[in-house]
Amino acid sequence: MKLIVKNIVIIFCIMLLIPASQIDAKKTHDLDQQLWKKALKIHDEAVVIDTHCDTPMAILERKIDLGQKTTATEVDFIKMKEGGVDASFFAVFVSNRLDKKNPSKRALEMIDEIYRQVENNPHLAEIACSPAGIKRIEGTGKRAILIGMENGGPIEGSLRLLRNYYRLGVRYITLTHSGNNDICDSSGAKKPQWNGLSEFGEKVVAEMNRLGMIIDVSHVSDEAFWDVLKISKAPVFASHSCVRAICDSPRNLTDEMIKALARSGGIVHLNFYAAFLDDKFRVKSDAAWEKVAPERKKLREKYKDDRNAYWNAIMGLWKKYGPPAPKIDTLMEHIDHIVKLVGVDHVGMGSDYDGAGAFPQGLEDVSGFPLITYHLLKRGYKEEDIKKILGGNFLRFFDKVIATGKTL
Ligand SMILES: [Zn+2]
Repeated sequence: MKLIVKNIVIIFCIMLLIPASQIDAKKTHDLDQQLWKKALKIHDEAVVIDTHCDTPMAILERKIDLGQKTTATEVDFIKMKEGGVDASFFAVFVSNRLDKKNPSKRALEMIDEIYRQVENNPHLAEIACSPAGIKRIEGTGKRAILIGMENGGPIEGSLRLLRNYYRLGVRYITLTHSGNNDICDSSGAKKPQWNGLSEFGEKVVAEMNRLGMIIDVSHVSDEAFWDVLKISKAPVFASHSCVRAICDSPRNLTDEMIKALARSGGIVHLNFYAAFLDDKFRVKSDAAWEKVAPERKKLREKYKDDRNAYWNAIMGLWKKYGPPAPKIDTLMEHIDHIVKLVGVDHVGMGSDYDGAGAFPQGLEDVSGFPLITYHLLKRGYKEEDIKKILGGNFLRFFDKVIATGKTL
């Protein structure tokens, strides 16, 4: 949803004292307490990984310390701990609008922001660059923070820059965002520019394969998806996409795509954005935003020098006019669909927190993650399969990408 949220966005040790997976009691009082206890145990044992949040974008121009619990963002190190989320990919998001205007500056600033947040909170978090790193940091009780880049625009047509991003710790690149770039076409573009992957895009895929860097096909056009799958030597993933057969957005994957991804050893990480999960919600939210467009414009003017005030005002608008959030079952239906289609080894979570704005009930921020485990249990998933969905699948997939790189 970055479109709308970016619209919304644009428009909108102490750690040790907090028991793991301690989420708001309000969220859990209706649950079967026996099952909830079992869910918490499984959740705490699992390596829980979220492969996409836009928190760097949300904090870059605001003075926010992720070492403090804050309501200003959906992710901080404390809420991650409360939600039992052990590792998270922080997205270095650069809008396609900057593609021709030195996007590497913005990307490097965001990478710096991620490092500074972690360096300022060494008791809470560490940067991770590998599956082994994730597991080691998880063992210390800290959060593992990984870096993904959303939109390959900051590569600026140079494989040298790509390699330097890798050296800085970037471990996946979402090839583009909602516009076409010099790598490939986007699912959000009105017209294709390359009919898939460009010639430069093919070089990017080959170099990422060689580096052992993960290729992310979220946001790319269907043609680009198929081009990537055809030429990539390593399995690829969608860091934050959903099932198109359930919610008909071009940002989501068709069953054919999910089957092809799975055949190649790839994986789909589900976006929690309500408009990618629930068709009815999507229609209503589009209508709501259209209705308040003039008001949004006024707010943009009024708060052009105060992003905090602007975001607060936009959130207020959303609360007033946005449709009610769907139930968490909507996310569960996407999981069930993928599991039925290709088995339990090819699905995971990529929340899109701090980049979307509307999430299923109970998943309003990262502290709600244990509810997913609870509902998986309730739906009859086995413990070992739940652990795969929560992070085991991603670790296996990431290992395979790195191993493939070593053979090239
Ligand atoms: Zn996105």
